[in-house]
Amino acid sequence: MLSKKQILILKKIVHGNLETNVSMKNHTSFRIGGNASVVIFPSEIPDLIEAILYLNKIKCKYYCFGLGSNLLVSDNNICDIVLIKLGRNFNHVTVDKNKIIAYSGASLNSLCMHALNAELTGLEDAFGIPGSIGGAVLMNAGAYNFETKNVVSRVVALINNKIQIFTEFNFSYRHSIFQELKNVIILQVELKLNKGIKANIKSRMDEIMNLRKTTQPLDFPSAGSVFKRINGIVVSYEIDKMGLKGKSIGGALISTKHAGFIVNTGNAKCQDVKDLINLVKEKFKKEKNIELKEEIKYLGG
Ligand SMILES: Cc1cc2nc3c(=O)[nH]c(=O)nc-3n(C[C@H](O)[C@H](O)[C@H](O)COP(=O)(O)OP(=O)(O)OC[C@H]3O[C@@H](n4cnc5c(N)ncnc54)[C@H](O)[C@@H]3O)c2cc1C
Repeated sequence: MLSKKQILILKKIVHGNLETNVSMKNHTSFRIGGNASVVIFPSEIPDLIEAILYLNKIKCKYYCFGLGSNLLVSDNNICDIVLIKLGRNFNHVTVDKNKIIAYSGASLNSLCMHALNAELTGLEDAFGIPGSIGGAVLMNAGAYNFETKNVVSRVVALINNKIQIFTEFNFSYRHSIFQELKNVIILQVELKLNKGIKANIKSRMDEIMNLRKTTQPLDFPSAGSVFKRINGIVVSYEIDKMGLKGKSIGGALISTKHAGFIVNTGNAKCQDVKDLINLVKEKFKKEKNIELKEEIKYLGG
């Protein structure tokens, strides 16, 4: 827990971009979570680096996240770590010929729009993934014919006070090298795209958005697909076959539109979602001898 003096110092370092007692419901697409004592929203790389140096100096742990669209946050308050949100404030984007260089908080949707305007193809199928490019790189996010690994050429990251440049990423299904490293903060991402035809890019983006609207429960808060694919099995199809589609615990429901999604129907608690997840995992283990793994990430105890 930071003292008042430490909070003031940190606030000065990030030029005022610090809030206390922040409801994580407002920073996650699940709209679930307790209050975080301190969240910083840096807008510039030097501020972020200085903030990390300070947190290390006072031996305070931190956790960095993006747009919170793959996060299930505990209902308990988060007091022992400082949260660093790299989202709206941290979203500079430049386009240079066929490259897009973005701060990690830039949303995938905004990068799709930049690509469209610059007549660059390669990102269309990512349209509608509600995360940041930093989160997408960490997760190797993918949809339809898109995988983040297809477009990333360079990443600048901060690891234990040191800036490192990556051109190799060890990408695989929903995995990147950044999940293997401790205390990593992705700062900036360079994407390499190809020249395309604007009308074709636009029409593919529209097609993808329509597909999402017809197949996903976008009218309820969620964190997207909860489980990772395993052995080529379509998890949502199996959940449906097991009769779990529409199953609810508290305010959490296995979506009737897409059984891979758990949605918050109003006042879901983190524990409701966890109980549903465990129910699905136990059934998979018992009936199929398969150990399902979550795609979503957990924050808080
Ligand atoms: C409706 C809906 C649809 C979705 N559809 C898809 C889909 O089609 N395909 C898909 O792959 N995903 C999908 N998702 C999940 C999610 O949008 C992606 O995983 C996205 O890439 C997460 O980005 P984020 O910024 O929200 O990450 P967060 O949820 O904020 O964080 C996710 C993880 O990344 C880490 N992280 C985030 N930013 C950084 C950074 N800058 N440096 C270091 N670590 C970081 C966090 O610590 C955390 O471990 C969907 C989610 C929803 C709600």
